[in-house]
Formats: sequence, structure tokens, C-alpha cells
Amino acid sequence: MNAMPLKAYAVLEKDEFTGDIYFANRSIVAAKAGAAEYSDGELSYVQCRRAPWADAFAGKGVPAKVSVDHGWRFECSGCGITIDEDLETEHRLPVSGVVGTMHGAVYCCARCKWRRMKKEARRQEEEAAAIDDFKAIVRQRFPDAEFCDDEDKFRGHHAYLTRSWGSRFWHRAQIMVAFRFPGMQIGPAHFRMDSHHKIGPTNAYYTCCNGDREAFEAYAKSTKGAA
Ligand SMILES: [Zn+2]
Repeated sequence: MNAMPLKAYAVLEKDEFTGDIYFANRSIVAAKAGAAEYSDGELSYVQCRRAPWADAFAGKGVPAKVSVDHGWRFECSGCGITIDEDLETEHRLPVSGVVGTMHGAVYCCARCKWRRMKKEARRQEEEAAAIDDFKAIVRQRFPDAEFCDDEDKFRGHHAYLTRSWGSRFWHRAQIMVAFRFPGMQIGPAHFRMDSHHKIGPTNAYYTCCNGDREAFEAYAKSTKGAA
């Protein structure tokens, strides 16, 4: 058993110098882990150096702000600016305010992270509202449709919204709701709308699996006039 604490190694691929800090008891172990991630396992494409400054963070995650002091660079997950030792001079943001660890999302400051979280929550609300609206349309046409709220995002409901820079308006670029119907054998039918462009007519339509076509058409026929 090895009771020695792990040591930190900076492993970088030599082309663009992207990489990470790895904790290991030997340099070759760290180099192999880094090569697997950054150079398809090719050891000669990476450099591996001891990074004693990061030893203290073994098992905890290296704070991004500490690594910036040692020459590492990140892209802010909120606003996209480059986070490096010039953060203060170029963006008037102190490096000490950088949020996140090397393995996760890194933000230029707490405020930027907060804004990002708020925007993400807003997006999820808008997506849920769009799906609800589409369910209401389907319910009108097919009152006994059974919505697939339990399906994954590939077979179930899906909403893709976009928002122009600085705009408060969310554009519904693609909405899809999935539902089961009497006689269905293969998979749920969908009501979907694709409108990736803001100009021109939107296109909303029902689709079903090939093998369910007859059943769906019969169902559609039998429910006609129900609305
Ligand atoms: Zn930011």
C-alpha cells in the first residue's frame, strides 16, 4: 500500500498547450492519464511537469483562480472572455474573484455565474411553457392522447429556443411533444414545429413511426371532429 500523498503534475499537449493537472505518485502515471485525454494516448505529444503549487488540492479540485496565478488560462463559461493573468488589466476583474475549479465550469466573477444561472433557469421555464402550449394544441385534436413525459429527450418532448443578443424575446426554433395513441405498436407519435428562421411560415405537423402509420391514420380519422 502506498501511503505517500499524491503529487500534482501539469500535463499539456504540445500543440496548443491545453491540458490539466493530474495527481499521481509517479510522473509516468500522470503523463499517461493526460495523454489519454489530450493526445489519443500518444505519450510523445504531451509534456508532463511537476506542479508543486497544486499538491495541496489533491482530491479536492484545483481552484481556477490559483491556477491562473501559475499561468493557466480559461474561457469564462458565462460571458466567454479569456481568464488569465491579464483579467484585471483587461476587464477590471480581480483574479481572486474567479469562480470554479479546473475540472468544472469557470466564471470570470460571481456575478457572471449568477447571471448565467438565472438565464439558464429562465430558459428552462420558457422551454416548459412552450411544451405546455404544444400539448394544449395536441389535446384539442387528440383528447385521449397520452403524453410521454417519462421518455428521454430523444424520444420524448423537446424544445429548442434561441434568443437574440440583448433581446428579452425567446424564439421557439423547434418544439416537439411526444404522445402515445390507441393502436400504437412501435413508438410515440410527435407533434412538432421547426422554425429555425424568424422569417417565413412556421411548419407544424404530426409524425409517427413508419410501422404505426396505418394505426395513426385510423386514429386521426376516428377523432376527426372531436375538436
Ligand atoms: Zn464571465
